[in-house]
Amino acid sequence: MNEFWRMEPLETYNPKVIEKKWQKIWDDNKASHAEIDYDRPKFYGLIEFPYPSGQGLHVGHPRSYTAMDIICRKKRMQGYNVLFPIGWDAFGLPTENYAIKNNIHPAIVTENNVAHFKSQMKALGFSFDWDREVNTTDPNYYKWTQWIFLKLFKAGLAYKTEMSVNWCPSCKVGLANEEVVDGCCERCGTQVEHRMKSQWMLKITEYAQKLIDGLEDVNYIERVKVQQTNWIGRSEGAEVDFKVNGETVTVYTTRPDTLFGATYMVMSPEHPLIDKWKDQIQNFDAVMEYREFARSKSDFERTELAKEKTGVSLEGIKAINPVTGTEIPVWISDYVLMGYGTGAIMAVPAHDTRDWEFAKKFGLPIIEVVAGGDVEKEAFTDIQTGTMVNSGFLNGMSVAEAKKAIVDWMDEKGFGHRKVNYKLRDWVFSRQRYWGEPIPIVYCDKCGYVALPEDQLPLTLPETEHFEPGENGESPLAKMTDWVNTTCPCCGGPAKRETDTMPQWAGSSWYFLRYMDPHNNEALASEEALKYWSPVDWYEGGMEHTTLHLLYSRFWHKFLYDQGVVPTPEPYAKRTSHGMILGENGEKMSKSRGNVVNPDDVVDEYGADTLRMYEMFIGDFEKSAPWSTQGITGCRRFIERTWRLMDIVTEEEGYSKDLESSMHRTIKKVTQDNDTMKFNTGIAALMALINQFYDKGSVTRGELRTFLQLLNPVAPHVTEEMWEKLGFEGYVYTSEWPVCDEAKMVEATMEIVVQILGKMRGKVVVPTNAGKDEVLAAVKADEKIASLLNGKTVVKEIYVPGRLVNLIAK
Ligand SMILES: [Zn+2]
Ligand SMILES: [Zn+2]
Repeated sequence: MNEFWRMEPLETYNPKVIEKKWQKIWDDNKASHAEIDYDRPKFYGLIEFPYPSGQGLHVGHPRSYTAMDIICRKKRMQGYNVLFPIGWDAFGLPTENYAIKNNIHPAIVTENNVAHFKSQMKALGFSFDWDREVNTTDPNYYKWTQWIFLKLFKAGLAYKTEMSVNWCPSCKVGLANEEVVDGCCERCGTQVEHRMKSQWMLKITEYAQKLIDGLEDVNYIERVKVQQTNWIGRSEGAEVDFKVNGETVTVYTTRPDTLFGATYMVMSPEHPLIDKWKDQIQNFDAVMEYREFARSKSDFERTELAKEKTGVSLEGIKAINPVTGTEIPVWISDYVLMGYGTGAIMAVPAHDTRDWEFAKKFGLPIIEVVAGGDVEKEAFTDIQTGTMVNSGFLNGMSVAEAKKAIVDWMDEKGFGHRKVNYKLRDWVFSRQRYWGEPIPIVYCDKCGYVALPEDQLPLTLPETEHFEPGENGESPLAKMTDWVNTTCPCCGGPAKRETDTMPQWAGSSWYFLRYMDPHNNEALASEEALKYWSPVDWYEGGMEHTTLHLLYSRFWHKFLYDQGVVPTPEPYAKRTSHGMILGENGEKMSKSRGNVVNPDDVVDEYGADTLRMYEMFIGDFEKSAPWSTQGITGCRRFIERTWRLMDIVTEEEGYSKDLESSMHRTIKKVTQDNDTMKFNTGIAALMALINQFYDKGSVTRGELRTFLQLLNPVAPHVTEEMWEKLGFEGYVYTSEWPVCDEAKMVEATMEIVVQILGKMRGKVVVPTNAGKDEVLAAVKADEKIASLLNGKTVVKEIYVPGRLVNLIAK
């Protein structure tokens, strides 16, 4: 029984040799190859493809990648046909900025960065299907990005308009609202300005309701759903028409029930009616001055950052509150934006904090219309359940009743109507930069904007040495007149190509579809591939993409579904998100803080298996966790202990009786924990199991085989090496994932008769594998036996294994 199988001395664990060896074998064997196979269930696991920056892979990347790699490796062993692809989201500003600074073509920068990322990823042993690699800057790829854009254009969902944009004076680029962080450029930190610019826009607002409704049908973690829902910002309210100096000004309010409390109106300083009222506004100069002041600020500064309320009253302009018939003053203030709602609001200072602050500052009347607060001291905003006061025919009603009654009244009198509103804005879809997908549109004086015929796609990015933007923010493409001047596909007359390029988010809005059929020249993917692989079963990625990439790609997908291009209305069946890995000091890793950990160094010192395990063991997957050198050493030690199991392995192929239930319980635990991303507790269960092997002093071949299988998704290299050394058939990755037998999970027990001085006094139940000490401890812990022994001394303990204990007590 205890004849050890291994006779020759064990070589030491050397990840440097082992890991390279297995990475080559996996490559040669195409171990992660996926193809359409209707006989097997499919599983499509997706991680966010990286932007190949010059810094290379960060230790944050492998957290998400390893997690999905574990899930995919296990699914393969469970018989699934797994698609786990990778690619490069390679257009974008950092590469272009680096290229400009160092005078290297962005295509070359991209190529170098991709090569670096790829070697880093291979060194970590991720089981990507490298045959399906995509790159958004490849014309064979962006041909289809352009194709989708044309579909959007033809459907009326892409349009060009003059609009106020967030402008980064340093990057010289217009930014989407989402790219502005605290009033500054997300990329370079420069204070963002406001500029008028003609921009391509995508009408994501058209899909606002569908994007909310679709969340019902997907399995996303709750905080992702909540963030998207809040970002889209659906509200139900009413549009109310106010008569103002002979004009009708419509406002949107979510609280039409408070109309009796509307004591003044605020308009955006840019409101076009102001110009129309030039002669009626007595303080027109002051108004114009204020308009200039507001223009200098970004939307974010005007709404979120503003600490002090500012504004100017429009002297000579009066609005009529439609329900009271009274005249109320009209003001302009920068916190009301032209691009949001109607550019005017009704102010109810008693029940809105911002209006209250404004009214207090400028001495405007405050009328309480929902009872319960002290509106002289502060705005009373918690008014979902109050009773109406000072509100004419609404008095005494509940807020809910009043809401209905006032809208019915407005409808009847023609003062307004019910209205659903969304906070979501259309998506700014052009940048005046070089390193992006060319927008396949030409402008003809006669025909306007005309789509390029599909057979002219891809419209490739023209070669140039000068990819820096013009001083006035012109796209670098504008200087390339040979390329710009073309003929109109519609009338054959002279025309100009669009010189703006698409934003960073274009290529990533559909990349998961291309993975399904990456080499197809006839379509973005074949119908068969789309049908087989759709939808992505599980998409794991960063919380920071929730309202950008994740929302944009859902929008494109829903559009493609409506166009009959894709077979499912939602792209991703499931979405999870990981926590950040922080520096050892608990702060966000950054060069300036000097707390960046380079994954290459960790792989070099400890091995990829250790890094993978550590990142999964570091804490709850969805929470942030600080890096710890001590923690990583612990994981390395566990792998070394695993390696030395080869020293104590016996020839027995099955499980030993005493460890059988532990084996089945561990199988169940690890399987479940991998399915629910509780990787840390799954690894802890394996650590507990290995302790049992060492406590016992041996492990059977059968036990070790299962142990290696359970550990394999986390530490694929060392487990394959041991599998081979132990002479098991094939590879771990081709073996079948162990299945837990619930019946055997129950610890086997035996009943022991207890005698005192030869007389039967009771029974105890102990595990089958309990030794003499454990049995005697159980006997003494038994309440009845303990009371019988009270005051006596046990002079002799007789144990007949598996049957009885006889205590000689005096
Ligand atoms: Zn910038
Ligand atoms: Zn034309």
